[in-house]
Amino acid sequence: MSDDRPEQNIDALLAEDRTFPPSDEFKRDALVTDTDLYDEAARDDEAFWATQAAELVHWDREWDTILDWQLPYAKWFVGGQLNASYNCLDRHVEAGNGDKVALHWEGEPGDTRKITYTELCTEVQRFSNALKALGVAKGDVVNIYLPMIPEAAVAMLACARIGAPHSVVFGGFSSQSLADRIIDAKAKVLITADGGYRRGEVFPLKPAADEAVAASDTIEHVVVVRRSENDVEMVDGRDHWYHELIEAADPECPPEPMDSEDLLFLLYTSGTTGKPKGIMHSTGGYMTQTTFTHKYVFDLHPDTDVYWCTADVGWVTGHSYIVYGPMSNGATQVMYEGVPNHPGNDRFWDIVEKYKVTILYTAPTAIRTFMKWGPEEPAKHDLSSLRLLGTVGEPINPEAWMWYHTHIGGERCPIVDTWWQTETGAIMISPLPGATTTKPGSATFPIPGVSGEIIDDEGRTVDQGGGYLTLTRPWPAMTRGIWGDPERFVETYWARFPDRYFAGDGARVDSDGYFWVMGRIDDVMNVSGHRISTSEVESALVSHPAVAEAAVVGANDPMTGQAIIAYVITRGTAQVEVKVLREHVATQIGSIAKPKTIYFTPDLPKTRSGKIMRRLLRDVAEGRNLGDTTTLADASVVDELAKRASEAPAEE
Ligand code: ATP
Ligand code: MG
Repeated sequence: MSDDRPEQNIDALLAEDRTFPPSDEFKRDALVTDTDLYDEAARDDEAFWATQAAELVHWDREWDTILDWQLPYAKWFVGGQLNASYNCLDRHVEAGNGDKVALHWEGEPGDTRKITYTELCTEVQRFSNALKALGVAKGDVVNIYLPMIPEAAVAMLACARIGAPHSVVFGGFSSQSLADRIIDAKAKVLITADGGYRRGEVFPLKPAADEAVAASDTIEHVVVVRRSENDVEMVDGRDHWYHELIEAADPECPPEPMDSEDLLFLLYTSGTTGKPKGIMHSTGGYMTQTTFTHKYVFDLHPDTDVYWCTADVGWVTGHSYIVYGPMSNGATQVMYEGVPNHPGNDRFWDIVEKYKVTILYTAPTAIRTFMKWGPEEPAKHDLSSLRLLGTVGEPINPEAWMWYHTHIGGERCPIVDTWWQTETGAIMISPLPGATTTKPGSATFPIPGVSGEIIDDEGRTVDQGGGYLTLTRPWPAMTRGIWGDPERFVETYWARFPDRYFAGDGARVDSDGYFWVMGRIDDVMNVSGHRISTSEVESALVSHPAVAEAAVVGANDPMTGQAIIAYVITRGTAQVEVKVLREHVATQIGSIAKPKTIYFTPDLPKTRSGKIMRRLLRDVAEGRNLGDTTTLADASVVDELAKRASEAPAEE
């Protein structure tokens, strides 16, 4: 690199000064409208979390010690015992809420199922007994590879009930990815389905599951849910139909009391940056923080709200905010099997209208796709039931935030931009919607009980400007480590800065103390000695009315160290000249951030959870062979981009 300036902080270029205080109408019924929870937590965070644990979670045995903190390992509520499935099911039935709908499930073809808490509780108990009959004992890992069907939640909760940690692998992953995860986890049983529906077609899962089982040597039994009725081969003695097991099983299975620190699940990260890590989560702290955040961040009113999280159960969002958090709170929720554009681009809005969804939690990647499809799609439906919106997964560009606010939220719904990770287990930085004045693109402040801090290269606190996002205190839902790889755990999260957790993300803090997460630190560019975050340049591009989505990377450049290369998807049929976009970036955030080259593209390489894979775009921009592409949703996208890059760029 030609740049020989010393390492310095990340430049903060974006200035966003629109503010959105909670409306009086929202505040009228909101659970939190003041700073009491923040104040209480600031006085004594351990006591604060203990209060939440006691109020929100049912314990079979009280803990002896709130926190045992031996950096980097935390134990929460030591000596306490509880069962996650009891907390998510039985206690609601016992409280007289058994007839309440737990799941309004909608299949992609339009078939529906309505499942009450009593029904879910019975099904989970039957399946728990079935798993036991297959030899699953406390501590055995069970792999789950299912479409978005209620049985996915049943399977997870049945594992939790008998103390068998689950490892859910997203149903869109290949047999190889599944095999890698089975082998790493040494799973004993695999729960899968014949197939599921996506984009109007059946995607078979069983053949991929069979290949993965053949490629590994620990799976003794395979349970197959019948969903799409495609032909499958059943191996005698090894494979079992779910519905037959359920029918034969006893409907009563008492929940196993688990130690607070017992492993609840393993979940492999989505692999945006490389080889997936088996992130471990334990029971008591995780249940406390997911229940707390689901209640207060989403301002949940369990008797009236209809909550819908559009994530897949294969991601941590599906674990914490479809299964454990909402069900622990006894919420009524929508679960949807398929894609947002089947049969039309308005499927999500059709579902919101049909079930009168009040709280919607989705991802920036989805919102930018909706922008591309145009506001006429949501306008076809009555979205007036919505009262709160959420996002997670990537930085949300201010213009995407405004679009969400205007066209989905009808300018009346607060937006909670929630920053967290597979590793943190639960939401860490987010507004509380009745108390926090939001700014488009900012996740605002750490929630009560969480201590986020932005620091510079030397580890000094940054009061204003860019730096590294770190967490200075342990939190209940934090990961208990990487399965089978303690060194990698220390190296990845605890080595860069002493005595604190390094999340791997860059962030800036503005003059009002708001946090703006700018994405992974590996994505920060170095242009003529300025360290610029890709997300700020992307947000500047997305703020042009012709642009729906943009991905920016820094490619090696003999003149400037790195040069900014942008890949742009336009909105609908909009067209715009390259030089107009470059000027637009210059006026939005400064000429230093002007992309050197802009490519127009119909698509971007994304992980299966919808995150832009900038690592691959960098490979393309620098003419390298592509590295690991196994976590990509659609590998042909990068081939197409590589082809375009080898041809002359549109304009310089
Ligand atoms: P891997 O760690 O394997 O590369 P991943 O980081 O994409 O995969 P997740 O744990 O699902 O896997 O994602 C967490 C990351 O997503 C965060 O570290 C951050 O980069 C990004 N992220 C999540 N929510 C937000 C948000 N609200 N604002 C900005 N970035 C976010
Ligand atoms: Mg990560």
